[in-house]
Amino acid sequence: MDILHGYSRITWGEVLHGSGVSHPHELPADIRHNLVSLAEAFRVVRDLTGMAIRICSGYRSPAVNEACGGAPGSQHLQGRALDIRLVGRTATVLQPEMRALYRLIDRAQQNGRIHPGGLAVYAGRDPETGRRDTDWVDFLHFDTRGWRARWNSADRQRLLG
Ligand SMILES: [Zn+2]
Repeated sequence: MDILHGYSRITWGEVLHGSGVSHPHELPADIRHNLVSLAEAFRVVRDLTGMAIRICSGYRSPAVNEACGGAPGSQHLQGRALDIRLVGRTATVLQPEMRALYRLIDRAQQNGRIHPGGLAVYAGRDPETGRRDTDWVDFLHFDTRGWRARWNSADRQRLLG
């Protein structure tokens, strides 16, 4: 599918994957516009890290958001949020890198490199053992809502250790 943003190396396919929408023109113009801004923020993050980042969830239609247990007012519905994972690393390397990525996005939001917005860690499975492990950062959510938001519980905060 077409590149969404000229310099971002991000495609419409990546942000619409699993969204319930197959083509950007099915979306209202304001959501398409939000996705282009989001892609720019993602480009900045990717360039700052140099890490191989995979988008696991971008835009979500209301039906998909409900099916995956997303918050009713989720920024994903507005095309302002990405859930991301790191790829191509061993589990041992991955955790420190996920924490580094969290700190990098946190700083980029604070110093204006990207729009201020939400940032949170989510626990999941250890990719090497397949075990459900709440000590494991599975993915990061970040969004471009325009103001700072954090919802890491004490448990999640521990993942950032
Ligand atoms: Zn999310």
